[in-house]
Amino acid sequence: MSFGAPYFTLPEFTYHKPKTLKEALELLDTYRDEAKVMAGGVGLVAFMKERLISPSHVIDIKEIPELKRVEYREGAGLKIGAAVTLSELENNEIIKKKYTALYQAIKKAADPIIRNRATLVGNICEALPWVDGPIPLIAYNAKVEVMSLNDVRLIPVSDFIKGPVEIDLAPNEIATFIHVPDPPPESKSTFLKFNTGSEFALATMAAHVVGSVKPKEVYLVYGAVSTKPVRASEAERIILTSENIKEAIVEAATKASQEIDVVSDVLASEDYRRHLIKVLTINALKSIFEVS
Ligand SMILES: Cc1cc2nc3c(=O)[nH]c(=O)nc-3n(C[C@H](O)[C@H](O)[C@H](O)COP(=O)(O)OP(=O)(O)OC[C@H]3O[C@@H](n4cnc5c(N)ncnc54)[C@H](O)[C@@H]3O)c2cc1C
Repeated sequence: MSFGAPYFTLPEFTYHKPKTLKEALELLDTYRDEAKVMAGGVGLVAFMKERLISPSHVIDIKEIPELKRVEYREGAGLKIGAAVTLSELENNEIIKKKYTALYQAIKKAADPIIRNRATLVGNICEALPWVDGPIPLIAYNAKVEVMSLNDVRLIPVSDFIKGPVEIDLAPNEIATFIHVPDPPPESKSTFLKFNTGSEFALATMAAHVVGSVKPKEVYLVYGAVSTKPVRASEAERIILTSENIKEAIVEAATKASQEIDVVSDVLASEDYRRHLIKVLTINALKSIFEVS
């Protein structure tokens, strides 16, 4: 990941490696704006080399035992710690079996070497418009648990990401866990990504439908097309109220491509992204409803 800056070295900083979450929170409470939390470091180190950020203190949370856990309880769902790597999630049998869109998004993110270091929580905290992690998580109604020395907050991922590189996190808070609800047995999900050989997707989408014969809940979430992840609520309503699913899929895809705020940038024009939204939506919904 390079933004073209000519630096290859890191700026000066003090490295901290706390052994417990409490110790990490105390360090963060002391240094606040002067500090940055480091999980995998994939994004953080690149940004520091580029001199986009220069924290005086880096607090490495990677070896904190309580943050290295993934737990699943039937009914309650998944709890993913902030030090769990994408590779660990990719190899988790529950995720593979029950959380198809999340599994597919992780599998398509970067490459095995990066997935061995990068964390899902770090991916969300990075909040770059093209990262993949937030898209399926929003489709599952996931929440981020955020902790300071004196407080714990639970924030929907859709609210946690406020804009490009902007998250709902105070300087003394750590994002500690992601909670993903247990999908009902009759739910199906998928994640699709369109890129042209680079790590920067031009458009991604996650679809999650509860009730595949008569839909009870529908989530259509898009990434890389806007400044933050977006849902297509009118398109969701078309699927929810459909009588003929084959026709509704095309109608919903058209609506999704019109209703979302879409950006134009060096990677793709607004028109092209709108076209991609339509194609991805048709493909995702056809696969979920098993229609040709
Ligand atoms: C070559 C390349 C290809 C890539 N391809 C993809 C791709 O296809 N799809 C994709 O989604 N991403 C991709 N990425 C981005 C990569 O996945 C993210 O940089 C990575 O997931 C960030 O996770 P991390 O654990 O390394 O976070 P870090 O680099 O440690 O942190 C990232 C940011 O989040 C903050 N942070 C991290 N954890 C916490 C926490 N627990 N609490 C508070 N703040 C925190 C840090 O302070 C920092 O600002 C790619 C990156 C590279 C270099």
